[in-house]
Amino acid sequence: MARVYNFGAGPGTLPPEVLEEARRELIDYQGIGMSIMECSHRAKAYQAVHDEALHNLRQLLQLPQDYALLLLPGGASLQFAMVPLNLASAKDTADYTLTGSWAGKAAKQAAKICRVHTAADTSGERPACMPVPETIRASDHPAYLHLTSNETIEGTQWKSFPKIEFPVVADMSSDILSRPLDISRFGLIYAGAQKNLGPAGIALVAIRRDLAERAPASLPSMLRYRDHIDNNSLLNTPPSFPVYMLMLVTRWILKTGLENIWRQNQEKAALLYQEIDRDRFYQGTAHPQYRSAMNVTFRLPSEALETQFISEAEEQGLHALKGHRSVGGIRASIYNAMPHDGVKQLCRFMADFKNRHSNGNTPG
Ligand SMILES: *Cc1c(COP(=O)(O)O)cnc(C)c1O
Repeated sequence: MARVYNFGAGPGTLPPEVLEEARRELIDYQGIGMSIMECSHRAKAYQAVHDEALHNLRQLLQLPQDYALLLLPGGASLQFAMVPLNLASAKDTADYTLTGSWAGKAAKQAAKICRVHTAADTSGERPACMPVPETIRASDHPAYLHLTSNETIEGTQWKSFPKIEFPVVADMSSDILSRPLDISRFGLIYAGAQKNLGPAGIALVAIRRDLAERAPASLPSMLRYRDHIDNNSLLNTPPSFPVYMLMLVTRWILKTGLENIWRQNQEKAALLYQEIDRDRFYQGTAHPQYRSAMNVTFRLPSEALETQFISEAEEQGLHALKGHRSVGGIRASIYNAMPHDGVKQLCRFMADFKNRHSNGNTPG
């Protein structure tokens, strides 16, 4: 059976060579007579996988020594809570930029833990956009400023980040390691693995070490960065198979080169946006200045055509193009592992679909 081109927003598509490697090693991992999933997380074989995953990520992020790197269970959503639990007390104010669905969810969880100030709000704007860094209105002495580097649902992305004197915390779940990053601009970044880094089940957290000292000792260990740092992300049984898969994916990124990945991502996105902009049949939903290179969102002249578009694409092996249920429309997620050819096939399909359905009576 042939593989489809999977444009799903998450879990996202993985490199076939990584899946092949995992298959080769599944039954007997490197001669230990069992799979890595069945192996003790205190055994040498697993320890080597764990260490390489962290080492590769450190290298890819060019993480300075004063940052700790963690792999934690619970996905990005647990970080919505862990960030305020560790960095703010109940009396503190944390600043949030409301830029779309995921930023809103992060702010809502933080509000259960500390005071939340809205430092910018573009969530209602159409076309969808991100704040201009200069328009951010911070509160007095915020514990941190939170932003969402790529809004997976709206299809928008921060193109440059605010430079401010208090810590910036970024949810990078849907564009982590899709482009080079200057980590020193951030106090903490986090990302669920299942978009660009591997399967679901883990989140990456990079935190400046001094910030990890803020959390009270009374915070339960599983929620406290400092305890995870002291235990090298082995406080309890880690999600060992997802860590192993992430290790293979980071090897693949290192082999390809992050600069090459970024160039390919820009090329793939440009192809799709060019197809959208060719005339008015397809309407991009994100402001051109903030268009995401990861999640390309657009609409057709009617919902009936959108439904037909999605089902015809599916028949051609172009999978999961339906937009998020909260916004409708079409969304093509083109993470690192989406091949150039998948995007080319989608563009060809879009041109053909338009030819068959436009009849010269499209809006505009
Ligand atoms: C997918 C996603 C999340 C949620 O991740 P989980 O691992 O499912 O908790 C959070 N933020 C962003 C930007 C996402 O794309």
